[in-house]
Formats: sequence, structure tokens, C-alpha cells
Amino acid sequence: MNPHFTYRDGVLHADDVSLMDLAAEVGTPFYCYSSAALEANYRAFADAFEGSDTGICYALKANSNLAVIRTLARLGAGADVVSEGEMRRALAGGVPADRIVFSGVGKTRGEMRSALEAGIFQLNVESIPELEALSEVATSIGRTAAIAIRVNPDVDAKTHAKIATGKKENKFGIDIDHARATYARAAELPGIEAVAVAVHIGSQLTSLEPFRDAFERVVELVHALRADGHDIQRLDLGGGLGILYRDEEVSALASYAGMVRSITGNLGCHVTLEPGRALVGNAGVLVSKVIFRKTGVHREFLIVDAAMNDLIRPSLYDAWHTILPVVEPNPDAPRSPIDVVGPVCESGDTFAVQRDLPHLDQEDLVAFLSAGAYGAVMASTYNTRPLVPEVLVSGAKHAVVRRRPTIEEMLAAERVPEWLDP
Ligand SMILES: *Cc1c(COP(=O)(O)O)cnc(C)c1O
Repeated sequence: MNPHFTYRDGVLHADDVSLMDLAAEVGTPFYCYSSAALEANYRAFADAFEGSDTGICYALKANSNLAVIRTLARLGAGADVVSEGEMRRALAGGVPADRIVFSGVGKTRGEMRSALEAGIFQLNVESIPELEALSEVATSIGRTAAIAIRVNPDVDAKTHAKIATGKKENKFGIDIDHARATYARAAELPGIEAVAVAVHIGSQLTSLEPFRDAFERVVELVHALRADGHDIQRLDLGGGLGILYRDEEVSALASYAGMVRSITGNLGCHVTLEPGRALVGNAGVLVSKVIFRKTGVHREFLIVDAAMNDLIRPSLYDAWHTILPVVEPNPDAPRSPIDVVGPVCESGDTFAVQRDLPHLDQEDLVAFLSAGAYGAVMASTYNTRPLVPEVLVSGAKHAVVRRRPTIEEMLAAERVPEWLDP
């Protein structure tokens, strides 16, 4: 069991805080994150790479709440961002500009300019048109952009198709066979200094093999680029390390770190790592309340007040989230299969199909575990459902780190044109 979300006196707690008490205070649904879990995850990563020239740039897109960023930034984390908004969050969360990497396949010129003006560590470029645009933007403001070119190593990450990014058919990066020509082009362009090679092959990888294949190809490329006269000083190895959702055999951090060191150790490069899910995934839960229990013709349904707009992973990636009743069930309580669904008007709004659960009924609370990554950040207001609050727990303390907006606030940005006046 996750040591940060355990039963105490029969009630599920986040560290020392009762999720039942939190539900009474903030209402359901809500996300709850454990500071201790975030810290432990970061420290484990940092310790695994202790002694090597490594920067850990937390991939903000996994969970970009300012309090989460601040928790990690205080431990020394940098940030991997994919939009100007995320860059501004990283800065606001206390990440120094010179520890920010800007990734993404479609940065706008405006975003490039803000990144250069902020003085970030590195921009990871994914196409020749992007390279040319960045050169124009950099020269127009008298700056030089330190860049990596993200290569696509054509490696099968063996993960869900929607989160695999390192095959030729994916939109990401520059085909590794075209990398040398791209670095040659970069060397001709003013305002560009290509100092690094970047790679990121996907997310929720549970085996080390795809990483190893990709990193070996990158190392080979670095040798070729150096022979071509490019001064490659850094590697950016992306994120992607998987976590335990159900019963996956996740590789140990120490094995991952050992593999990275053994493959890249002789290059004398600074290595950037961009873990997202591995730092935050198991540090959060989504707490929801049962609205109704409904008996269909063939199945039982548990209709909860959280929905696909709050946590889209099951609909989007067929993801499994362990569901625990907040009140500890008697170990001998009978379990029976039930579909756990949300109230949204889509059949895809299903959290679990035929899940074995003890009897639950109206007003009972449940927690979806491992919801700290790609949960709140992917939420929408579909069906005009307000974004759910986020709560951060630290020991016995808790704080609402994003409150639930009111319906009035949700409507406030909209205008009915005057020609529709009654
Ligand atoms: C999404 C992403 C990450 C983080 O991936 P995780 O699987 O959450 O570790 C890192 N780098 C890049 C470029 C990404 O797009």
C-alpha cells in the first residue's frame, strides 16, 4: 500500500489528515496531494543520480499547481515546460530561470521570445522551421538561444499508443537519421547555439529496454556530432519513467539511474532529466462521493460525483486507478463487481468496469489512487462542472491550494452580444 495514503482508525488518511474531514471541509470531488510523498519521490530521484552532473527538471505538465511546483523547487528541482503559461508558473513557483527547459513541438514566436527574455536554460527544438523561427526571434532581440535538438530515435516505448512519442510515425522530434543535417543547419543560423541533444520517447514506461535503446542511439549521435565539429556539452534524456498503478513491474529508480550512468557516463555531458509522473503520480488522490447506486439490466453502477472531466485518464488511456472506500471496509466484507461511472453525458465517462468493490452506497466516499499526475491538469469544465479543488497536506496540516470556482465565475468571461438582448 502507498505509505502516504493509509487507513488510520478505519479512515483513509493523506499522511496525518483524514480524507473524510477534508471532504467535509472542501466538499467533493477534490484532489489531495501529500507533501511527504512529493518530497520522498524527488529525493529518491536526486539520490539515485547523486554525484553525477545531473539536473532534474520536473515536467510541469504532470501537475502544475503552484504549491506542488514550490514544494519541488524548494528541494532544488528545475522545470520542463511546454508553454509560456507553464514557464510563468515555474517562475512563480520559485524555479530559477536558468533551470528551465522549454520543450514542445509547437512553440509560438511569442513563446520563444518570452523564454529568451526570461533567460531560460535551454529550448528543445523539434523541427527545421522552428529552428529558423527561433533564430529570427533571437537575433531580433539580440540574444543567443542555447538549444537542444530533440531527436526521434524510432524506438517502441511499449506503452499506451497515446503516450508513445519516439516512433517515426509520431509528431515529435527530428528523425535521428536527419539529426546531423539539422545540427549543420543550426550551426549556420545566427542566434542559435546547439549545445545539447534531447530525447523523450513516451510516458509510463515500465521497462528499461526502450530507454536503453534510445539513449544508446543518442550517444552514438553525440560522437558523430562531435566529429562533425559541434560542441555538444549536454544531454536531455526526457522523462517517462512509469509508476505503479495496478500490478505493473516498474523498473527500480536505481536500475534506471545505473543504466543512464553506464550509457552516458563517458561523454562528459551534463545530463538533464525530466521526470513528471514519477515525481507526482503516486503523491495524489481524487476523492469523490457516491451519488447513487443503480441497478441496470445486466450490471450494477456506482454513480460518483467525479467524472471524466475531472480525471480523464481512464477514458483517454484506458487507465486503471485503484479505488478505495474512504471508510475502511471490514476485510471479510463481501465484494462484487460494479461499474464506477461519473455523471457526464458520455459513455466514456467510466472510471472502472466490473471492479470488485465492497458494498458502497449513497454518500459513501471513495478515493481514486495515483491521481497526482495528469489528473487535475487535464481537467475541463465539460458539462459546466467547476474545476475541482486541490488540497496539499503536510504532516497534520492542510491547505486548499486551488479552490473550486463558483458557477458565477465560470460564466463571468462569457458575453451575450447586444443583438440578442430581449
Ligand atoms: C511529458 C514529458 C515529460 C514527462 O513525462 P513523464 O512520463 O510524466 O515523466 C518529459 N519531457 C517531455 C519532453 C515531455 O513531453
